[in-house]
Amino acid sequence: MDYKKHITIVEDWPQKGIRFKDITTLMQNGPAYKKAIMELTEYAKKQQADVIVGPEARGFVVGCPIATELELGFVPVRKKGKLPREVIECDYGLEYGKDCLTIHKDSIQPGQRVVITDDLLATGGTIEATTKLVEELGGEVVGLAFLIELAYIDGRKKLEQYDIFSLTTYE
Ligand code: 5GP
Repeated sequence: MDYKKHITIVEDWPQKGIRFKDITTLMQNGPAYKKAIMELTEYAKKQQADVIVGPEARGFVVGCPIATELELGFVPVRKKGKLPREVIECDYGLEYGKDCLTIHKDSIQPGQRVVITDDLLATGGTIEATTKLVEELGGEVVGLAFLIELAYIDGRKKLEQYDIFSLTTYE
């Protein structure tokens, strides 16, 4: 499927110079959203994931349906102050800005095979922080799955020790 047809490019949002890839138009199209989720689900299945992890908020949009398709658990990674129980945290840099991500301390069991999902790979900062959180809890990151990869930013380099699967790439 030509996923790009369903993704809207928004110029200068949220800041001047950013060409934001808006996935809400893909999500609004039932068959396209389903096809995207099923392709990513096949990948997670192939990687023999035990659990799916995704950073807020668009990582949930991608990861939760994959987890339910495979009858696996989904573990949310959220910004500092959002998760109610004991967490571990990791600071990270974004394509625009800085932040801190957290995960519940009891959410991953040592040795569990983890596939991490998000809508888009840019610098890789968000996912690098997420891999650190998972690994600190003893999880094994067996794959990273995205709807979109921005090849011109090259987040892949930062994540070269991991297996990466993206549905569509912008050069
Ligand atoms: P990174 O940490 O790889 O630099 O940036 C990826 C994160 O920022 C993802 O969680 C993603 O949701 C968000 N992001 C950055 N740029 C875009 C964009 O153009 N479109 C969308 N949908 N998300 C973006």
